Amino acid sequence: MHATSTQQVEALARGELPPLEQVRDDVWCLAQPMPGGHLAYSLTYLLRGADAGVHVVDPGWDSDANWDRLTAALAAVAPDGAVTGITGTHLHPDHVGMAARLRRASGAPLAMHGVERAALERHHTRLLDPDEVTARLDGWDVPRERRDELARFVDRSPAGLGPAVDRTLTDGDVLPVPGFRTVVMGTPGHTGGHICLRDDDRGLLYTGDHVLPTVFAGVGLGGATPSNPVADYVASIDSVRRYGHYEALPGHGHRFTGLGERAEESADHQLKRAREVEVVLETLGEPTVWDLASRLTWTAGWEGLQGFQLLSALSQTEMHRDFVRAGTRPAP
Ligand SMILES: [Zn+2]
Repeated sequence: MHATSTQQVEALARGELPPLEQVRDDVWCLAQPMPGGHLAYSLTYLLRGADAGVHVVDPGWDSDANWDRLTAALAAVAPDGAVTGITGTHLHPDHVGMAARLRRASGAPLAMHGVERAALERHHTRLLDPDEVTARLDGWDVPRERRDELARFVDRSPAGLGPAVDRTLTDGDVLPVPGFRTVVMGTPGHTGGHICLRDDDRGLLYTGDHVLPTVFAGVGLGGATPSNPVADYVASIDSVRRYGHYEALPGHGHRFTGLGERAEESADHQLKRAREVEVVLETLGEPTVWDLASRLTWTAGWEGLQGFQLLSALSQTEMHRDFVRAGTRPAP
């Protein structure tokens, strides 16, 4: 993997926000700060069409400061142009939190994958559905004294965004940007309706949170899906690897080449975790999710996991357990 933006890498190292950057003719990248967590910002992409209008991919976290940053960037790249469309790679608020505001202000339609739209409309975008919190925590065998800490994270989805989705995207669709041919690639795993976008003319692949340069994305972080998110993720990595020679424009961090290699590392990360889970299952047979998770290695250490991190860890452990039990894993 090779970083292709010195400005973004230097800003990351200094803990600063990279400046608005032109990526190609008519393509810009804007960093939008986001609160909390280990990632300082998400990356918004601006595509200026042949009609001088701008199509916005992932407008970012919703805040007044980010709104000002976005409008300033739009004025800089297209002084006479209007926002003509908005596309969300997936339903997380650091990507589409500001989509509803931008849609209201500009009148531009918002497009997302149908699975994301459905998840937003069902309010099923959380790790813990309010109707099933107790059952889920019971099922995982979470100790009583740790339950309140997890139950606080019931709703993390952008409110009211479901009805704001004007157009449902599916694999193979082309974004309506004059002068561009940007193709939608369905890449479920991180969320059930996650998409990447591919621009063959410019050799660019917008990867959202599917493949990231500085961290490995979690899986199964959208609404409940009928299929296993780990299996979905590994399959989706295969579809991206075919374009491994494209420059990656990710949702966080910095743009890079070596996408094929990074995609493979990302799938391996999930498969290694599955192997670790398999070893514990071979020893313990039928451990509870809590017991299983406590025997795995965690960056923060098992004892250090708290709140949302702990909730996410338990949820990922359950998915990996189900993935191993389903036996659909490719041979190592
Ligand atoms: Zn995400």
